[in-house]
Amino acid sequence: NTLLAEQEAVIAAPPVFKARLLANENPFGPSAAAKKAIVDSLDTSYQYAFMALSQLAGKIALHEGVLNKNILMDAGSSPLLLAAAMHYAKGGKSIITGDPSYDDLPTQAEHFEGKWVKVPLTADYKLDLDAMEAKVDSNTGLVYICNPNNPTATVVDTEKLKAFCERVSKKAMVFVDEAYIDYLPDPAGTTLISGIKAGQNIIVARTFSKLYGFAGIRCGYIVAQPNTIDTLSIYTSGAFAISATTLAAAMAAYQETDYLQDALKKTNASKEYLYSVLKKEGYTYIPSSANFVMFPLKMDGKKFVSEMMKRGVGLRNWKLAGQEWCRISIGRMDEMEAFAAAFKEIS
Ligand code: PLP
Repeated sequence: NTLLAEQEAVIAAPPVFKARLLANENPFGPSAAAKKAIVDSLDTSYQYAFMALSQLAGKIALHEGVLNKNILMDAGSSPLLLAAAMHYAKGGKSIITGDPSYDDLPTQAEHFEGKWVKVPLTADYKLDLDAMEAKVDSNTGLVYICNPNNPTATVVDTEKLKAFCERVSKKAMVFVDEAYIDYLPDPAGTTLISGIKAGQNIIVARTFSKLYGFAGIRCGYIVAQPNTIDTLSIYTSGAFAISATTLAAAMAAYQETDYLQDALKKTNASKEYLYSVLKKEGYTYIPSSANFVMFPLKMDGKKFVSEMMKRGVGLRNWKLAGQEWCRISIGRMDEMEAFAAAFKEIS
């Protein structure tokens, strides 16, 4: 049968990328220290790693100025987005998001009877906080703020978001997804963990999948009020959710400043190169505050993606404001050069 033949073909020869620019990963990671920690942890990996889990949570808590009971960890942030979706959609509640924004949480919420309320972005492709606040009513289960926003890589004004969270969190849970915050110049000044410390009803989600380069290693966490952590932990597998190897890697890599700064520097160099390629070919783009860039296409998005894939360049397309767009993740310089060569051929 054809499907089986297709599956077998993919197993025998998975797609080969010259440039894998489709999932906002960090091709410079994980760090040498993280890799060494994984190998070193193997000898004791026959043990359940609940001690290591609370140690890592403690390290993060200390850095952020919160307590262990404010933190819930899991294998990436996705299981925690799912936990929030399941809980806050219950009973047909609504989930308010930007449009477009990262659609995982609201999509999951719809599987649990949630109603997805989409609020268009502003003219400069940012989350429209005023319009989102105007949608909050007695049926709102959760307001999802992705900052920086995926797929537009835009950020909202920090003071405006802090004031928004202070007001809105009195009426509904606010979930701030900070997956890409490590790419900003001042993550500590931008994070909404400050709101949690001030007692507000907010959930902040973080992941090691992006600047730490852990997308395939899987480590993420949320920070929230202890009662929220208790509630959401019911939807997770708790102390056994993360492998011993992952915990060791995360422990070694967390706030490894030199490594992170280096990855950031290389990402920014690749991003500047991409901007220059787009300008030279007569394209515009949305200035990016993360490790990916959106630019408007001059051809059908699906056709563009498949033509680029034929040339070994993996990217994604989007429809936004009646226009076809490409979202390209920032890769190594050789990957950006492979993009440039393929792009010149078909644009
Ligand atoms: N949040 C945002 C905004 C993302 O873009 C992603 C992944 O691309 C995730 C969360 C989930 O990441 P992970 O489960 O790897 O932590």
